[in-house]
Amino acid sequence: MKLPMPRLHKEIHKSYRIGWLRAAVLGANDGTISTASLIMGVAAAGAPKSTILLTGVAGMVAGAMSMAAGEYVSVQSQADTEKADIAKEKRELETEPEDELEELADIYVSRGLDKPLAIKVAEQLTAHDALGAHARDELGITETLRARPIQAAVSSALSFIAGAVIPIAAAFLSPADLIPVLLTATVLAALVLLGGTAAYAGGAPPGGGALRVAFWGALAMGLTAVAGRLFGAAV
Ligand SMILES: [Zn+2]
Repeated sequence: MKLPMPRLHKEIHKSYRIGWLRAAVLGANDGTISTASLIMGVAAAGAPKSTILLTGVAGMVAGAMSMAAGEYVSVQSQADTEKADIAKEKRELETEPEDELEELADIYVSRGLDKPLAIKVAEQLTAHDALGAHARDELGITETLRARPIQAAVSSALSFIAGAVIPIAAAFLSPADLIPVLLTATVLAALVLLGGTAAYAGGAPPGGGALRVAFWGALAMGLTAVAGRLFGAAV
């Protein structure tokens, strides 16, 4: 069933960007922080550079797959819910068309239309595309916001990989004994950039977003370095 496409305004509302941006930035942050922490832990344990790089690549693939699997499962269940809601709506439109018309008119009244106009609008939209009108105005399901599991899974895996490449490249380009220092500097700079961009694109002050992400990144790398050092000394 083709759902109604909202007519796009000239100015781009941030809400259209939010959906995919949040997934992309979360995935990238996750990729950077978890891969950098893995590399930091192994480096702190005194592993050779080849092992450090192998760990980074294995962590990147494992993380990307788990992000994709998690995103696919959650968005697929959202898609299933949407499909079930639309099927139920279709049945109700067939079995109780008057009640459904009344319900639609009430939605427009609650949005500020007077009753006679609301009924007229509901009648015209019902005549034009009843299911589309109910999906959009009652269930909040439109073509733009519809759940797309594969797209969500692929975009979160790719953003995880995009984030993970940063610490792997830093480790690859660093002399073995300087990996912890150069990795920390590179990753914190990348997290400040990512966090600030995400905050800015979402309409929030970039500084706060940058600090928040950098803080958690530093904490994660610090803790795994300690764990790696302790574990490295123990074995
Ligand atoms: Zn309805």
